Amino acid sequence: MLLAGFLTAGMLSSCSEDAPDTSNSIFNTTSEAKNGFDKWLQKNYVNAYNIDYKYRMDDIELDHSKNLTPAELKKSMQLAKVIKHVWLEAYVEVAGVDFMRKHAPGILLVLGSASWNEEGTITLGTAEGGLKITLYMVNWLDPNNVADMNHYFFKTMHHEFTHILQQDINYPQEYNLISASDYRPSGWNNRRAITDYATLGFITSYAGHSAVEDITELTCCYVTFTDEQWNAVFTAAGDEGRAKLNRKVAIMKQYMKTVWKIDMDELKQVVRRRMNEVKQMNLLEPSWMPLISKQTPVIGNAALQQLKNELRLQWNDALKNIEAHPHRCHVHDANLINILQLNNE
Ligand SMILES: [Zn+2]
Repeated sequence: MLLAGFLTAGMLSSCSEDAPDTSNSIFNTTSEAKNGFDKWLQKNYVNAYNIDYKYRMDDIELDHSKNLTPAELKKSMQLAKVIKHVWLEAYVEVAGVDFMRKHAPGILLVLGSASWNEEGTITLGTAEGGLKITLYMVNWLDPNNVADMNHYFFKTMHHEFTHILQQDINYPQEYNLISASDYRPSGWNNRRAITDYATLGFITSYAGHSAVEDITELTCCYVTFTDEQWNAVFTAAGDEGRAKLNRKVAIMKQYMKTVWKIDMDELKQVVRRRMNEVKQMNLLEPSWMPLISKQTPVIGNAALQQLKNELRLQWNDALKNIEAHPHRCHVHDANLINILQLNNE
C-alpha cells in the first residue's frame, strides 16, 4: 500500500512537472523549447561528451518497462552534477578529455526506483555494447553520503564503463585461468558470506559469476571500495584466496595502465577527492529552481523497505533471468540482490 502510494506520488509529480510545457518532449530538439536543466545537459553532457542523460517518464516508456518509477526531478538534477564531477571529470583528469569523449556511453538512463521486471532487468542490466548505462534507486540519492553513492551508483557506473573499455580492447585472457574452476553463472549468489567468496579469490560474490564479471568487479571495487571494505576481503581471503586476488589485481592494473594509460591508484585517489568535493558543491543551478516541484515527495526508509519487499517477491524470477543469459552482465540484478541480502531485516 505504502509503495503504491509512493509510486503514484512520484509519477504524478513527474507528470505535473512535465505537463505545462509540452514542447519539453525529448523528441523536440529546438533549443528554445529546452528548460534550464535541459540547456545545462545539452552543454555539459551532449556537447561535451555526446551523452544523452535520460530522466523523463517518456524515456522509461521507450524502454517498455512497466514497473519502473521515474527519478524525482530534483534528484535527477543533483545526480547529473555529481556524475559529471565524480565520474566523467575523474576519468578526464586521469586519462584526458579525448579518452572520455571516445568511450563515454551514449545514454545514461536514471530511474527512481528499481524493478526486476522480466523485460526490464535483461535490457536495462546490460552495457549493450557500450551504448547505455542505467542507474536505479535515484530517488534515494544523498549527495552527502559517499558510501551510499558508491554503493548505489558509482560502483555500477565504473563496472559498466569497464565493460565498454573491454569491448574495445579486451583484457589479457590469462586472467581467466586464475579461478577457472570456481565460476558459477548459476549459484554465485549462494556464496553470501565474505569468507565464501573471498577465500576463492573473488572481491564480491558476483565476481564469481564469470571471468569477465570477475575482472570488472575487481576494477570497479578498486576505485569505489573504502580501504576498510577492500582490506576486509583480503583479510577474509586467507593465504590462498589472497594470492589469487593479488595476481588478479596485478593483471587488472597492468591492463588499465598499458592499454588505457590509466593508473588505477591515481584514479582511486582522484575519485575519492572528488567524492568529498561534492559535499561543498552547489548541486542545483539557479535556473533549475523554478522547475522543481514544491511538493517534492520525501522518499524515506519506509518506502525503501516497501521497495525491498516488492523486489524480494520477484527474486527467483530475477535469478532465473540471470541463469538464462550467462553471457550477459547482470550487475544491476546482482547489486539489488546484494542490497537485499546484506540488509536481511
Ligand atoms: Zn558486468
